[in-house]
Amino acid sequence: MLFTLTSTRPPATDLGFVLAKHPARTQRFALSFGAAHVFYPEASPERCTAALLMDVDPVALVRGGRRAPDGKPLAPYVNNRPYVLSSHFSTALSRVFGSALNGTVRHRPELADEIQPLEATLDPVAVRGGARLVRDLFEPLGYAVEITRHPLDPAFPEWGEGPCHRVVLRAETTVTTLLRHLYVLVPVLDDDKHYWVGDAEVQKLLAKGDDWLPEHPMRDAITHRYLARQRSLTRRALALMDDGPPVVDDQASDAAEEQIERPVRLDDARRHAVLEVLDAVGATSVIDLGCGEGKLLRVLLRKARFARIFGVDVSPVALERAAERLKLAELTPRQRARIDIVQGSLTYRDARFAGFEAACAIEVIEHMEPDRLDAFARVVFEAARPPVVIVTTPNVEYNALFGLAEGQRRHADHRFEWTRAEFEGWARAVAARFGYSVEFRGVGAEDATRGAPTQMGVFRR
Ligand code: SAH
Repeated sequence: MLFTLTSTRPPATDLGFVLAKHPARTQRFALSFGAAHVFYPEASPERCTAALLMDVDPVALVRGGRRAPDGKPLAPYVNNRPYVLSSHFSTALSRVFGSALNGTVRHRPELADEIQPLEATLDPVAVRGGARLVRDLFEPLGYAVEITRHPLDPAFPEWGEGPCHRVVLRAETTVTTLLRHLYVLVPVLDDDKHYWVGDAEVQKLLAKGDDWLPEHPMRDAITHRYLARQRSLTRRALALMDDGPPVVDDQASDAAEEQIERPVRLDDARRHAVLEVLDAVGATSVIDLGCGEGKLLRVLLRKARFARIFGVDVSPVALERAAERLKLAELTPRQRARIDIVQGSLTYRDARFAGFEAACAIEVIEHMEPDRLDAFARVVFEAARPPVVIVTTPNVEYNALFGLAEGQRRHADHRFEWTRAEFEGWARAVAARFGYSVEFRGVGAEDATRGAPTQMGVFRR
């Protein structure tokens, strides 16, 4: 079975640093159930591919103590385990690419959270649930998914198709994020763990899934399958992940908005786009204006380079959920000192908003009455005056592509949704008035005529 990972961001051979495997070398790793080989079929500045070839020894598998799930004597010997990517793959990933999986890059630490165009190929991978399941698992995480189903036996086409697929995943993400997704989801696709599943697996799932699984639409199903369908473990894992009691109105609207925007998983794309800008400007202190439940704060907190993180929101309910999501009560004193969340309004001057290198207002302005936008602009650009301000808001031109009717908004609480011209007009006027420059970019898959689903303005003083 073969897993390949390709980067096309020049210099693509940086992938070797991230994976801690030199592109010019071939390496072999012994595993309890066989061996894994790492090599690079291609390594040029434009395109670099690392390959992980797994060579599973069927006899070692049986000696390893695998029981026949159905009690049939031959089942442990005659099965597809040695020939498909399954939970062995996760074991191999952590043995071979352990540092990348944990987000550390020893020789070039700055590469650790670089978002880049990546392509992963898994072939063959066993899927119980078919192509639909592959899409349901990976598309919400922002992947473009390509699936080819292998025939059961190419020599006997009349036998039809087998359970094995070739899966290609493409996304702009970090190597660590991609590996963590695969670590959890490949065994979920296969739905058949090769080893005893106990409490340690709950910990592994929480560790590898902490920044994406709680928000995944299939969170419960993933957890259940990953934990080999053991109910008590599943319950424990879900309780640990849980963000507290649901809040009726807001949540229904948020769920609806998520459903509308789901095909492009905009939420993730927005956070990546914001991080990209924060990286580019080298900000180490960030204020998140209208932080909501703290999704951006959580990503910032995971990155050590953000030494000072501050969230403000008008809604105590949202802040409560943010405190839970961020696990503020459980942070070490050192981590706790990096972050604060406070209640406040963005339309009243507040001394606490000053002194940050960057401010973000992600999907916030459209929640304000249009006649309060002027107050917001003065609070942020005149009083707080951070060197960089990032503002995002929906691009209403894109709504039709979400299947929304003319005039229908993405979220019940949106007071307006702007065209690109409307947002750019507002932003340019604000920039000119307060001595900033502003640049625009789209977030999410761009449509040739309607633009991207989210529009972003980056203001610099
Ligand atoms: N930035 C978050 C939340 C977006 S939802 C995210 O991207 O996930 C908009 C948030 O703005 C809500 O949490 C709402 O409470 C907050 N908000 C709206 N008007 C506000 C105001 N005048 N002052 C502070 N927060 C406000």
